[in-house]
Amino acid sequence: MTIADIEHIIEAWAPKWIAWEKDNVGLQLGDRSRHVSKILVALDVTEKIVTEAIAQRAELIVSHHPLLFRPLKAVTTTDETGKLVLKLAKSNIAVYSAHTNLDFTKHGVSFAFAEKFGLTNIRFLSPLKGLSSKIVVFVPQEHVERVADAMSDAGAGVIGEYSSCSYRISGTGTFRGSASTNPFIGTANKLETVEEVRLEMIAPRGAVNTIVSAMKTAHPYEEIAYDVYPLENDSTNYGMGAIGDLPNSMPLKSFLQLVKKSLKAEAVRYTAGAKQRVQKIAVCGGSGSDLLQTAVRANADAFVTADVKYHTYHSAEGTIALVDAGHWETEQVILEPLAKRLREAARHSKEQLTVRVTKFSTNPTHYSY
Ligand SMILES: [Zn+2]
Repeated sequence: MTIADIEHIIEAWAPKWIAWEKDNVGLQLGDRSRHVSKILVALDVTEKIVTEAIAQRAELIVSHHPLLFRPLKAVTTTDETGKLVLKLAKSNIAVYSAHTNLDFTKHGVSFAFAEKFGLTNIRFLSPLKGLSSKIVVFVPQEHVERVADAMSDAGAGVIGEYSSCSYRISGTGTFRGSASTNPFIGTANKLETVEEVRLEMIAPRGAVNTIVSAMKTAHPYEEIAYDVYPLENDSTNYGMGAIGDLPNSMPLKSFLQLVKKSLKAEAVRYTAGAKQRVQKIAVCGGSGSDLLQTAVRANADAFVTADVKYHTYHSAEGTIALVDAGHWETEQVILEPLAKRLREAARHSKEQLTVRVTKFSTNPTHYSY
């Protein structure tokens, strides 16, 4: 399996185009064509993780937080990042980072977080909008299947767990080719009418160019009539945070114990909300304070996230239980599901691949009692 194959597996799940625009996701260091047989998965790329990767003879580190975030002006041993880059390059270890794209995808960080509490009916707390387009193309009847299949294969027609979704309606198309044309149907300079199907498929905005080019290759016409419309729909596949229900309501104090136990958190900071008992729980892995009001509007009894500021607790107090369980704690939940996905993909393609989750915590914060 090559690094390019690993990129493909991760990006089919968490495409780069959904990442925050200022983020830096994807392959950060290394050669895409290199064959890999051992991967180390970690939240951060630190000295400890690089040493572990060398000891395990891993050819690739897959991290959540990017190794390279701010542009480097020089790669030297005088700063921490430069030191790590040089050490990785010397050991021929590549680095791939899936950051906000992994936060925003279905079954990504926040879904994995929600699953830790055993929540049911898990969905996005704030679905992303404006990520889809509608592609409409006019196709002669006998070529519809071929064009629809090509568009599906390129990523069109996915709505939630459903794929190959399309809408088709028959009608009459007209055209008159100039003297220089070579029409697939009819003759040049003559008004032609032809039975066509209006084929509509939804498409991720980031994949429109690929889908249109696949559609053009499969379409029989010399000049193809097609439209691309931007959509403002809520995305079913991408969003921020997650919300779901505990199987039974429980006192806030018991819920805080559950949070600590499920996230390997030594302690949590919190403010109480309006209710003594909680059942509807909103979560966001990492710094999710911006979603507080969304959680309130969604009638969540509690919102669990990280990096919460003093004044944010004030806005929540008496309204919604707000729990800060730690940045590392609320994000490390994705490491096993990420490793599992890579292992399953390797097994599926009968490739030898060992994927390990780091045995170290890269959490730089500690508690003192
Ligand atoms: Zn983070």
